[in-house]
Amino acid sequence: MLVFKFGGASVKSAEAIRNIVDILKRYQGEEIVVVVSAMGKTTNALERIIDHYANRKSEELKLEYRKLKEYHLEVVNGLFEDTSHLIYTAIEELFGDLGDRLAKDPTLNYDYDYDQMICYGELLSTTIISHFLNSSEVPTRWMDIRRSLKTSNTWREAKVDWELSTTLVNKNFAFNGERILITQGFLGSTINDLSTSLGREGSDYTAAILAYMLKADSVTIWKDVPGVLNADPKYFDDTILLEKLSYLDAIELAFFGTGVIHPKTIKPLQNKNINLHVKSFMDPDAPGTLVGNLSYNKLTPSFIFKMNQVLIRTSPLDFSFINENNLEEIFGILSKHGMKINMMQNSAISFKMIVNNDKRKLRLVTDELEEKYKVDYQTGLELVTIRYFDQSTIDRVMINKELIMEQRGVQNIELLIRDMG
Ligand code: ASP
Ligand code: MG
Repeated sequence: MLVFKFGGASVKSAEAIRNIVDILKRYQGEEIVVVVSAMGKTTNALERIIDHYANRKSEELKLEYRKLKEYHLEVVNGLFEDTSHLIYTAIEELFGDLGDRLAKDPTLNYDYDYDQMICYGELLSTTIISHFLNSSEVPTRWMDIRRSLKTSNTWREAKVDWELSTTLVNKNFAFNGERILITQGFLGSTINDLSTSLGREGSDYTAAILAYMLKADSVTIWKDVPGVLNADPKYFDDTILLEKLSYLDAIELAFFGTGVIHPKTIKPLQNKNINLHVKSFMDPDAPGTLVGNLSYNKLTPSFIFKMNQVLIRTSPLDFSFINENNLEEIFGILSKHGMKINMMQNSAISFKMIVNNDKRKLRLVTDELEEKYKVDYQTGLELVTIRYFDQSTIDRVMINKELIMEQRGVQNIELLIRDMG
């Protein structure tokens, strides 16, 4: 049994969805669990809708809602000629349910409301694709992942209940004559059937969870890139495809922010020794990247860029040294506001951390820190991680840059830099 995951880009249009059928037809005779994300940028659109909802901006909300519905109908029109096809009713129902929720007053819990609505992206995409597969003679069953994947009620960052979910997944994900089971990535639900989500870009993680629980033979993530590259082509011209990656290298690259694989994806696969393929859905014959229990001699340096970084420097107001109690307090404040640290450094009288420039969180965090510390911060920085670095790779990154801070490990170096160009 195989697990396939199709991300937003690979299901963003009628054409892309037709391509999925072609890919599935290549795997005749295989039983496949297909995990799908929301179409294109739907999750971003839903986030805007939820924001308008929380801020009671009903005009903006209506506009975004209508645009989202039009987009989905356009894709459906491109796939189904028969306008009396059941899919049209199914789409109306899903948008009707979402509309009903949006007509109610927001609760006081933004993150709870978010999870009850963000799920429509994946519910819509999987509904459209499963109807289309069935009409293309690929026998498919649509599965609501929320009946099988049980989580904590940590809204927007739900933690999987592995024991209960393993039982439910194995009971529900049984092939009864269908060759394809199709389900939603990114979603789960609490024991009381309230929807939850696993964190943005979490569909890869869903694929890994299901593969782990069902003991799949392999996982394939179908992407709009040829595989895992050693750098983002946005920042580098001559990128190299990493044909093989050990689990450890994949974890490190994902952790530092490669973006191609969600960081939580690898661990469950490594645990059961399940191979992961990252392949291009436009070129399914190309080998892509294989992640597994592999070793290799040639260690290709990889570069990971994080733009728009902020350096926050905190020092105790009384000029005392930074100690464990301060650190506990500082970490507590960041954790409370859900701000993640990309890099940190401690000196006698100050503690420095590098974070993403999320303006809302940044203000909340610095306001609270300022009650007890002297705080200053510097914006407009870039954080570059090089795995398997050497001097020439550092020199390459440092052209026209000023070094603000660095951290050197055995395999990785992290450079906080400022553009002087
Ligand atoms: N649709 C969700 C997101 O955009 C999950 C995913 O794509 O992996 O974050
Ligand atoms: Mg996505």
